[in-house]
Amino acid sequence: MESIRDHAGEVRICASCGQPCGLGETESGEMWQHFSEQWDGVHCPRFPLASVPLIMEWDEMALKQVKAEYPDTRR
Ligand SMILES: [Zn+2]
Repeated sequence: MESIRDHAGEVRICASCGQPCGLGETESGEMWQHFSEQWDGVHCPRFPLASVPLIMEWDEMALKQVKAEYPDTRR
């Protein structure tokens, strides 16, 4: 599981919980999953995986802001 701050790939929105998710490695290959910041902050039925990842047409600045300001529940 990766930090949203370090995630360089595409960011989509999980249809189950409305929180961001990214494509990352799992034991069974690449799958859409939540980020390490979301450890206990999202009540997603599929956590740590994400449900249907909705494609977002991010404005570059908006995505940067989301990454920088996303609350980190591990702390
Ligand atoms: Zn989710």
